[in-house]
Amino acid sequence: MSTTAPQKFEFQTEIKQLLDIVVHSLYTEKEIFVRELVSNASDALEKLRHLQVVEKEIFDDRLDLEINITTDDKAKTITIQDFGVGMTQAELVENLGTIAHSGSKAFLKTLSETGQKNASLIGQFGVGFYSAFMVAKSVKVYSHSWRAAEAGHLWTCDGSGTYEIEECDGQRRGCKIIIELKDECAEFSQEWRITEILRRYSAFVGFPLNLNGKRINTVQALWLRNKNEIKEEEYTEFFKFQAHTTDEPHLRLHFSADAPLAINALLFVPKENPERFGLMRTEPAVALYCRKVLIDARPKDLLPEWLRFLKGVVDSEDLPLNISRETMQDKALVDKLNKVITKRFLKQLEDEARNRPDVYKIFFQQFGLYLKEGAALDYMHKDQLTKLLRFQSSLTAQDELISLTDYVGRMKEGQKEIYYLVGTNREALESGPYVEGFKARGLEVLFCYEAVDAYVFDHVREFEGKKVLAADSAEVKLDPAPTPPGSEPLSEPETKELAQWLKETLGERVADVKSSDRLVDSPALATNADKMMPAHLRRMMKAMKKDGEADEPVRVNFEINPRHCIIQRLAAIRTTTPDRARLVAEQLLDNALIAAGLLDDPSKMVARLNKLLESV
Ligand code: ADP
Ligand code: MG
Repeated sequence: MSTTAPQKFEFQTEIKQLLDIVVHSLYTEKEIFVRELVSNASDALEKLRHLQVVEKEIFDDRLDLEINITTDDKAKTITIQDFGVGMTQAELVENLGTIAHSGSKAFLKTLSETGQKNASLIGQFGVGFYSAFMVAKSVKVYSHSWRAAEAGHLWTCDGSGTYEIEECDGQRRGCKIIIELKDECAEFSQEWRITEILRRYSAFVGFPLNLNGKRINTVQALWLRNKNEIKEEEYTEFFKFQAHTTDEPHLRLHFSADAPLAINALLFVPKENPERFGLMRTEPAVALYCRKVLIDARPKDLLPEWLRFLKGVVDSEDLPLNISRETMQDKALVDKLNKVITKRFLKQLEDEARNRPDVYKIFFQQFGLYLKEGAALDYMHKDQLTKLLRFQSSLTAQDELISLTDYVGRMKEGQKEIYYLVGTNREALESGPYVEGFKARGLEVLFCYEAVDAYVFDHVREFEGKKVLAADSAEVKLDPAPTPPGSEPLSEPETKELAQWLKETLGERVADVKSSDRLVDSPALATNADKMMPAHLRRMMKAMKKDGEADEPVRVNFEINPRHCIIQRLAAIRTTTPDRARLVAEQLLDNALIAAGLLDDPSKMVARLNKLLESV
């Protein structure tokens, strides 16, 4: 029936890679290809339902919006047909031949970033249409677009690097995908097997789903039903269907509101943070509906950026049905939805934190980063988000977390500031010179292990009227520490003289040298003299530098502990063995820089240390 000769096309390189992985994967849950193709069919029908509202002319307009699956165990084929939007020739090339869509892109990126060559991630990402090639010898896609003026086409591929498209008359609207199964995958041409799979994954498809002429599902918009009538399993199944996952959700929020807008929303927090693999950013995935008609599956502005981990559905009767999918013209309305939903979700988190702290803690461990991002960047919700943050501290047990509210509630009398310290882990922070002074005075220090924490506190500078201060900043002023029994600190004039000598000896490397109030067990500490460049920021900048680029020289404020024996001895040998004293001074400074994460080049230090060791 073809009116023109088949035309041969080459897949984009990324698709070739993807196909190669998919075709050769030993991934055991091959059945997810059914889920992927059914969900594409459902997407195509959703799009068509929307077009029916806004377009005058639609090809084959009287067709029912449904999905028909047929199996043929003799021919070893399975066919999935929908009467959705279909694809033109150009769309077949664009959608099936290039990697324009998110799921597969994310999949490939993760494979390359994690260096994994295995396909166990296929199920998590849903490589969409291409998953068919896990089971197929060949795939044929017959399609006719909803645009009446377009011709029908047949797209064919056997999983190698090329595919063919030819014109093809007599097509109904939508897509018909015929999969010729590999011999070892013949089970997917068995009706019982597909019934089982559809029951598992596709119970919530919003359109009639028929297998060999028999209806499989009952269509229902779960989010519009009354909460009290919905079973726990139904929610779970709905989440799995929506989020393309086999995990259960961690949290759920189902609410309806009448004012200021009529809203029915069903939102889920997944179990795991999908960004855990690294740089890959999750795309928003809360779909926007108006009276069960999908307006946009991935609206960008429906929720604030930091809520991009949420899955689910928002349905609002107040949206005009002809709202444009591309531009969402009615920005004000979407903004309003955004506000209402964010408020409800934050309240839910507050309730969880109060009533089910263990559940909240697990949530926070996975998704705390997003809340931190929000606390730093979302001015409108900053205060609420800051209260939801949790930290370890110098006074908590290893796995205990506290809030800033807890911190303020147990501040020492007279304490005016909230202290935090950023470092790689608890041990590093506790063994450094900064915490001891706070410990000795019974002051709590929040422990932060992520660069984003410092970023948060650059934005959250105050909490409940208390200034938030980095424990390693030069601004920290503590009351003088009690002198440990049995030791006699350097006198004030002696300390002053030593400080003066150190300043001359260390020259450019120090901005200021002074006696420290906060040190207890360590001889000295360093704080970055450049106020605009706290240590954590400098570390970040350094990490971003290319090889060979010179480091900005650091200048620090150097604080010495007149109660410490090394400092006392240094004061004594300063005049008797000045060369040796000079080496000790340099080494003390380097040690302090290491603790501060500010030492750029350790090579000089090693030479010096060896020299000091010579006299052993
Ligand atoms: P995704 O669904 O995440 O976009 P897929 O690989 O599943 O990725 O599908 C790629 C694209 O092919 C879809 O975005 C859609 O444009 C198109 N497509 C796939 N199946 C159909 C279908 N049954 N009807 C119309 N378009 C389809
Ligand atoms: Mg898909």
